[in-house]
Parts: sequence; structure tokens; C-alpha cells
Amino acid sequence: MSLPLAVLPEAPRFRSLGPHHVDEVAARYAPRADLMEAVRVISQVLPFRVNEYVLSHLIDWARVPNDPIFQLVFPQRGMLAEDDERELADLLRAKDKRGLRLAVERVRGGLNPHPAGQKELNVPMLDGEVLPGVQHKYRETALYFPQQGQTCHAYCTYCFRWAQFVGDADLRFAAPGPELLVRYLRQHPAVTDVLVTGGDPMIMSTERLRSHLEPLLAVDTVRTIRIGTKSVAYWPHRFTTDPDADEVLRLFERVVASGRSLAVMAHFSHPRELETDQARAALARIRATGAVVYCQAPLIKHVNDDSRVWADMWRGELSAGLVPYYMFVERDTGPREYFKVPLARAVDIFQGAYRTLPGLARTVRGPSMSATPGKVLVDGVEDAPDGKHFRLRMVQARVPELVGRPFRARFSETASWLNELEIDPSTPADLLAAVTSAVPKSAPQTAALG
Ligand code: SF4
Repeated sequence: MSLPLAVLPEAPRFRSLGPHHVDEVAARYAPRADLMEAVRVISQVLPFRVNEYVLSHLIDWARVPNDPIFQLVFPQRGMLAEDDERELADLLRAKDKRGLRLAVERVRGGLNPHPAGQKELNVPMLDGEVLPGVQHKYRETALYFPQQGQTCHAYCTYCFRWAQFVGDADLRFAAPGPELLVRYLRQHPAVTDVLVTGGDPMIMSTERLRSHLEPLLAVDTVRTIRIGTKSVAYWPHRFTTDPDADEVLRLFERVVASGRSLAVMAHFSHPRELETDQARAALARIRATGAVVYCQAPLIKHVNDDSRVWADMWRGELSAGLVPYYMFVERDTGPREYFKVPLARAVDIFQGAYRTLPGLARTVRGPSMSATPGKVLVDGVEDAPDGKHFRLRMVQARVPELVGRPFRARFSETASWLNELEIDPSTPADLLAAVTSAVPKSAPQTAALG
């Protein structure tokens, strides 16, 4: 690659910091002692991982604790119930290891770590056996979870796959290699897209990533490779100064040269993540390979619950040559009470930002719930003679015939997920059956935002 990297001041080696490095972070950045105490306590239950770039380039320490990136990666007071937090703090202080372990298990169990259907639905079979590390929910797209790509350069406190990062092996969809997937794809030519996801596949070395990607190129019916990643936000050096950064770009070029579309599904939670020299250089280098970068993120209280933030982010994405793609609704797992934004407010935030955009940035859709029957978009609110309603639409569906179909639900100020809505009884029977079969309190997982 020929893009100049001289603008970048450093070529640091990646090093992650976690619960054992709280004192080190405190010594260097001097946040309030009570905030670091909360990190110590809450990170017993929720995953915590950060790195030097996030600490020194993304977080504005003068604005902590309200800084959005601090909220994005550091566990906070209020993410757990007050009683639980107090009990954990007492056990930690008393160095009661056994008591702490039991309390941690109990608290995690109460945070809905296994959203319904996660393991049962979307599981493909090959020759009568479950295909490990693959999910197949929508006809044209298979999700592939390479075993070595199931961590990230930092962890988002709101991640819906949080439980897998705290050692819940049950939740790791992990494939040791692509051989079985390749066989499956040959038997299912309708699958045109493979989404490689995690965790974050870009945590893998280029050599490892190549071993997962190249075999997929031997399947003619696969036309698009998508890579779900937050690495541009959390560790842009992966594409600039890491020892195998150039090689990974060559791998991207090879995918594009094979005639496939390469879609980098980038997760940006806040416009600040796009603004550093490192992120700009990474994006320019990725785009120069012929890959197209699509951007998506959930709407999260304390991080990005503001129309201006989304408008800035989508405009920033457009001017960097990226495609704004999805605003998601936060799912019902982990510290969701801390992060959730009611659908009524989510629509306001989305539309408030959308209205200000130039037409080319109106590629974005949302707010969208990845629910059991498919992706349900909240298209707006209507004031009809029979009362106020949400206008909803299936933009993706397990049953292809449902794609694109609109329906309505009674307006609610507080509902924050599909199963909390009263669906209009006049909804066609097949659609009504699909959306009300979303009985589980929470939706199954379909894709990490990566
Ligand atoms: S949202 Fe993505 S980047 Fe963030 S912790 Fe989860 S998998 Fe990792």
C-alpha cells in the first residue's frame, strides 16, 4: 500500500488492560477514586478490557465520568443493582473468594446472559450434525465465528455477547476452521453472503484470518464476504502500523480481486472514534483495497442518545467515504437497564438526525430491532383517528415472504422492545404470528456488532 503513514506519530504494540490493571490506569489518568473502585467491583461481573489507544486517544479524561467513550468501555456504578454492588464490594474487601465467586455467578445469572433462542435457533445442520461456529438465520446470509476471533481489542460495556467474554463457554460459537462451513455452503447455494464475526475477527493475525477467508473464495456461490469489526475504532493500527497491517490489506485486495464484494461492517458508537489521524489513515487504507465500509451501532443511553451525535457520526462517515447502514436498538441482556432507550425516544433521535443529513447519507436505517422473526424497523409514529401508533416494518426476516411488510403497534412511551408492544390486531395473520411468536423476553442473537 502506498498511502503515507508519516502523519502517524507512533507504531505501538497492542497491549490489553483489564481488571488487573485498574491501579495502573488510576495512576496514569487520575480519575476519581470512587470511579475506579466501581470498575474494580463491577468488572467482577461484566467484562472489562481496554487498550492504550482507547485510553490516550479516545477518552476525554476531563469529562469523565460522563465522557461517552469512558461510558463505552469502563464498567460504571448503576450497571448492577445497588444491593448486588454493595454485596460484591463487601466480599471483595473481605477477600472472601468463595463468597465472591458465588455472588458473581448469581448476579450474572440475573442479567439474562443466555437470551432466549440463542443456542436453539439459527443452528445449521450438516449431515445430521450441528455445524459448530455457524449461524444461519436469513436465507442469503451465514454467520461464521472463527474460534480465534472471539475476543476484541477492547470490550463495549453494552455488548450483547458480554457473557462469552467472562468465560461462558456455552456462548462461544466457535469454528476451528472453515472446512465444514465450505461443505455447508456448497450444499446451500442460496447463501450468497458470509458474515465473519465474533468477538472481532480482526483480532486474529493476518495469517490466521487468511486461513479462514481463503477457503470461502473457492465457493462460487459466495458473492460477498462481510467482516464485522470494531477494530477501526478500538485499534486502527491493525490497518496501519501493526507488523502484519500491510499483509491484511493485501488479503482484502485478494478477496476483491476474486470478484467478491468485501464489506467491512464497522462498528462506530460515537463520532470521536472516526476523528483521529489513526482512524482516518486506517479507513483510507481499507478503502484503497476496494472494500466498502458499512457503519452500524446500537443507540445507547450515556454514549450516543442524542440526535446531534448521530448526525455528526453519519456525516463523518459519509465524508470518509463510508456507508451509514444501521442504528440498532439495544438488546435485553447485561446492564440493559442502564443503557436502554425507549423506542419512542429512539425514533425521535433517529429522525432528528436523519432530517439533517444530505441525501447520500440517508442510506442509514433504524432504529432496528434484531428480534426473533427478523429485523423490525420502527419507521415512525402516526396519529391516526384510532389513536397513536408506531409504524413498523420487517426489513429482514427468517421467512423471506415477510421482508418489506409493514404493520403497526399501539404507541407507548416506555416500550423498548418488540415483545413490549401491543401489535395491531388487524395485522395479516402470517405477519402477526411471526412477530408475536417473539415470545421470549429477549431476542436471539444474530450478529455481534463486532
Ligand atoms: S460490541 Fe463488538 S467490539 Fe464491542 S465487545 Fe461486543 S463483539 Fe466486541
